[in-house]
Amino acid sequence: MQKLDELYAGKAKSVFTTDDENLLILEFRDDTSAFDGEKIVQLDRKGMVNNKFNAFIMQKLEAAGIPTHFEKLLSDNEALVKKLDMIAVECVVRNISTGSMVKRLGVEDGLTLNPPTFEFFLKNDALHDPMINDYHIRSFGWASEDEVATMKRLTFQVNDILKKLFDDAGLLLVDYKLEFGRYQGELVLGDEFTPDGCRLWDKETREKMDKDRFRQDLGDVVESYEAVARRLGVDL
Ligand code: C5P
Repeated sequence: MQKLDELYAGKAKSVFTTDDENLLILEFRDDTSAFDGEKIVQLDRKGMVNNKFNAFIMQKLEAAGIPTHFEKLLSDNEALVKKLDMIAVECVVRNISTGSMVKRLGVEDGLTLNPPTFEFFLKNDALHDPMINDYHIRSFGWASEDEVATMKRLTFQVNDILKKLFDDAGLLLVDYKLEFGRYQGELVLGDEFTPDGCRLWDKETREKMDKDRFRQDLGDVVESYEAVARRLGVDL
């Protein structure tokens, strides 16, 4: 597999074309960003940890029946993925109230949500990723009614699979964000699943072990990601 041109550089990953038009290479960089790219810092080993973390989770999801873009690990910082036609919306499921939900709705932090909530956000940094609903997605043609239903179904299925996986490792899956794209007529999970895009709390102490450590300047960011990875059995 030959790595060709850089197609796109995101805030924490770069995407490269390959000599196969259906495949891309994702490079996980050490960059960590928050607040729509306002705060950016390089954290040693973070690219490697997130690449291997993501590979582990994507393989678990695939094995449980979720179609994902993940093909294989290529190196410490690179993974081979299917080239998707991405849908520019973010799917967020929350099991516990915190983060933007608490600010937006004035609800208490740390409440168990039964049922878990589902929210769509438009992927647009300049607009600070505004919350949208099914109608915005359908009316503006960002995705079809079927695709909206499939995104919701798959995002909740991921919740059942990962809540259990993290619970077995002594962690609460508080919330997470997924992105989907189209591949040969099918909706497929794209982007990444790492502690950059989810919240994980220790089950006993409720200590934060995810990107909130970076957002809130709590320190030990990569150390916490590594601790989560070790608990899950990820080979770093
Ligand atoms: O900020 P908020 O509380 O809405 O985030 C909900 C979840 O989605 C968190 O796990 C956060 O890390 C993730 N998220 C993300 N990328 C964004 C917005 C949220 O990964 N642009």
